[in-house]
Amino acid sequence: MSYFRKHLELIAGYQPGEQPQDGQFIKLNTNENPYPPSPLVIETLMENLNKHRLSWYPSPLCDELRERVSAVYGYPPDWILVGNGSDELLSIIFRAFLGKDDRVSYPYPTYTLYRVLALLQEANYEEIPFEKEYSLPKKILTSQAQLKVVCNPNSPTGTFLSTPVIDNLLKSSSCPIVVDEAYVDFARENALSLIKEYPHLIVLRTLSKSYSLAGIRVGFLIAHPEMIRGLLKVKDSYNVSWFSQKAATAALQDHHYMMNNVEKIKRTRREFSQAMSRLGYSVLPSEANFVMVQRPGDNLESEYLYLKKNHILVRYFSEWPDSLRISIGTDSNMQLLIQVLSAMLKDGKK
Ligand SMILES: *Cc1c(COP(=O)(O)O)cnc(C)c1O
Repeated sequence: MSYFRKHLELIAGYQPGEQPQDGQFIKLNTNENPYPPSPLVIETLMENLNKHRLSWYPSPLCDELRERVSAVYGYPPDWILVGNGSDELLSIIFRAFLGKDDRVSYPYPTYTLYRVLALLQEANYEEIPFEKEYSLPKKILTSQAQLKVVCNPNSPTGTFLSTPVIDNLLKSSSCPIVVDEAYVDFARENALSLIKEYPHLIVLRTLSKSYSLAGIRVGFLIAHPEMIRGLLKVKDSYNVSWFSQKAATAALQDHHYMMNNVEKIKRTRREFSQAMSRLGYSVLPSEANFVMVQRPGDNLESEYLYLKKNHILVRYFSEWPDSLRISIGTDSNMQLLIQVLSAMLKDGKK
């Protein structure tokens, strides 16, 4: 006998990566930024913090922050919706478009939260395997679904689909299409320019990765105003705290600081990928702030455990045992990882 609705009994919730809170690890498992957020973030919070501010509700639509997003990304405020992390926006989207027995389709492997959100709606999920070199599966163009999602750059692979490929998907489907661009600041291009032309496109962004602000939980999406109006009905009134709105507004003001960190991470990504190839791993071409390394047919859990014993956390997914997803940290983080891994391989500890 259970207190819960039947479909809840049958599903496992989303498994987040390990989040040790004691600072004992070099964290390369959940794609956080190794560099701190812009100093303007702390300054702004300090300057604006007063007791009255904390006793009032925040702006329901994040007015000041929407103005800032508008200034940086070039779409008017009524084309923008802010969420408590882009995970909340995904949850709003799935609740808005999927009911029992509806269908969402997406290329696979990808962010496993999509599957959990579909199951919560009692909806079907169609996971369509990527084609060779992680190109968009043709089957997704014709899939009959109420919602399609493309994570670009994709997690956990880091691979990227060019804008014409996204454009083609938009032309061939009439249902809402989400392009989850959590990592796009680390890529060569993005889908922003397509929004005007396609009223069924929703582009999703987060401040958790490139802006170094995973702790404040802010994401936003950009879409046509009719789309925003519908999604607003699903959103909690005060979904983003005053604190987070202020911090995010300040971070966006210092866009240049973020871009500078992105350039450093892209340089480290290139060097780290080469070093891992030299150690005998195949490294998928990444346009994100992480790389997926593989030894086809092997099980890399031993690498994961050995690194963990040496206080370096990377992501091992039991679904893809021949792969590890490794976030790009500082140059010295990555050099240490290479050193530890070389020692393990040399000692035959595997
Ligand atoms: C990190 C991530 C998100 C969620 O980010 P938030 O921290 O909730 O803003 C969404 N999609 C993908 C693919 C991610 O990796």
